[in-house]
Amino acid sequence: MNVPVTIVGFGLAGALVATELLRRGRRLRIVDETLPGAASPVGPGQINPLATRRFRVGWKLDEALPAALDTYRAIEAACGEPLYRECPILRVVKDQAQAEDLENRRKEPETARWIRGPSPAEQQCIATRLRAPFGAFVTVGGGWLDVPRFLEVMRRALHSDPRVHWNPPETATLRNPSAALPASGTTVWCEGWRARHNPLWRHMDHNPAKGEWMRVRLCEPLGVKVIVNGPCWILPLPDGTARVGATYAWSSFEAGPSADARVTLVKNLAATYSGAFEILSQHVGVRPIVRDTRPVAGRHPKHPEHWILNGLGSKGALYGPWAARLLADAMEAGAALPREIDAARFFR
Ligand SMILES: Cc1cc2nc3c(=O)[nH]c(=O)nc-3n(C[C@H](O)[C@H](O)[C@H](O)COP(=O)(O)OP(=O)(O)OC[C@H]3O[C@@H](n4cnc5c(N)ncnc54)[C@H](O)[C@@H]3O)c2cc1C
Repeated sequence: MNVPVTIVGFGLAGALVATELLRRGRRLRIVDETLPGAASPVGPGQINPLATRRFRVGWKLDEALPAALDTYRAIEAACGEPLYRECPILRVVKDQAQAEDLENRRKEPETARWIRGPSPAEQQCIATRLRAPFGAFVTVGGGWLDVPRFLEVMRRALHSDPRVHWNPPETATLRNPSAALPASGTTVWCEGWRARHNPLWRHMDHNPAKGEWMRVRLCEPLGVKVIVNGPCWILPLPDGTARVGATYAWSSFEAGPSADARVTLVKNLAATYSGAFEILSQHVGVRPIVRDTRPVAGRHPKHPEHWILNGLGSKGALYGPWAARLLADAMEAGAALPREIDAARFFR
């Protein structure tokens, strides 16, 4: 009998688990409520293959990036609109030590394949728009997922899918995080940072980080289609504005945008971009992070009906599709999860 699986939370994690389970023929009940601090409605969705300070190739990039591209391309084909945009990343080198790191990394073939020198137009942007006394280089293979649009598209598609039942009455108690009671049947918890209030999952090593970004108008446009990554990142949007972020804070998760974050963002933008800018809006969300910074996927060791996808951290667009696939394989075919992401690591 095809008993429906219940998914609690419909951010990036919930949407990706839903995609994978539907692909495997499951029926779903989705428990969906947008609560303060949700990350995905504000997620900038960048994928940067060399995101670390020392330009290391991202962990499991060779598995996670193809899974992400495959998932987003399949959803784009089904919905008929672009959601993931490939985009070069203009990385500003911070200081002399980073410049030396870069020289060393360029000698490693596995890193060098993600790097190229700036084109003449990009050089012009660096010279006239950016503050880059130690230079800049281009990371290839990255881009950004329009996460809010992705969620809209997924919600619309799943609302008209007869295999999916949204917020059925029997799941009402699951919507109250502090009273999260086991439901009947298999449940996958995709609650983002709020998992730390869930009695089933609160013992995991949660370390959520509040993040803020601003939407701005750059008075002198960059002149090239790139994401800038320096003291802050600048992500130009199709409408001519840009997102600028992001901050990290470890408290006040339910509070709205803060004056402190705005000061930090303005300072970092002025340290990255040399032109004037106009602030249009400020946005806030909470990244679901656990202390080892790896995704969390798997089964509760004491309550085998309960599963989780969490811990997507600052890299949900990259690791979400890969982790959701592995989770669905574990649920449906009993496949073993990689030790590093298995939720069981918190229950030993
Ligand atoms: C400022 C900022 C910048 C970021 N930048 C990037 C980036 O550039 N690249 C990148 O890949 N990632 C980035 N991220 C991270 C990325 O957005 C997250 O990893 C991802 O969105 C997490 O998705 P999630 O579904 O796990 O959590 P969420 O998006 O928080 O979704 C959880 C959902 O579950 C709902 N929920 C919770 N409990 C319940 C319940 N009991 N009942 C019903 N609903 C419930 C919540 O309301 C929410 O809608 C950023 C995040 C922030 C905040």
